[in-house]
Amino acid sequence: MLLGDPAGLSLLAGRVFVADNLRFMVDSNVGSLARWLRMLGYDSLFFDSGHDSLMIAIALSENRVVITRDREIVRRREVARGQLKVVLITSDLPEQQMRQLVETLNLDCQSKPFSLCLECNRPLEERDRQQVKDLVPAYVFQTQSQFRQCPACRRIYWRGSHWQAMNQRIEGFRQG
Ligand SMILES: [Zn+2]
Repeated sequence: MLLGDPAGLSLLAGRVFVADNLRFMVDSNVGSLARWLRMLGYDSLFFDSGHDSLMIAIALSENRVVITRDREIVRRREVARGQLKVVLITSDLPEQQMRQLVETLNLDCQSKPFSLCLECNRPLEERDRQQVKDLVPAYVFQTQSQFRQCPACRRIYWRGSHWQAMNQRIEGFRQG
């Protein structure tokens, strides 16, 4: 359910259509969702240390939707005032949690997958094959043509079998 938008409260039971440029703050109790959201191309911070107040302060200042299983956060005055948007996740299972998010926020799974680093949340940059020649395994260099790199951690991403397996799971989120 999406909370915190006074106009949206009436849509709790239904699908909520919101802007595509959503950014997220992922609470530690649903931590695996940060990587999945990044995989879809959604800017997502993972909050794993510190008090809830700090997480909420960052979410407010950067206009991020908080994703959590913590009902206490839903009861905060920032939510009641409509300043803070919160999605309260109900399932224990990451796959179902992600499906709930995709359905609740009508997330776009298609337009920008694999555009962010899964570890750093930074936008990936295109790389030529020659640029990554010494950075990837030889068989990857020989069989792949498209590469991207994280400017922060320098990880290289390519469209290998791992990417395809992820894509299939993303399809699963959409079809429910
Ligand atoms: Zn990175």
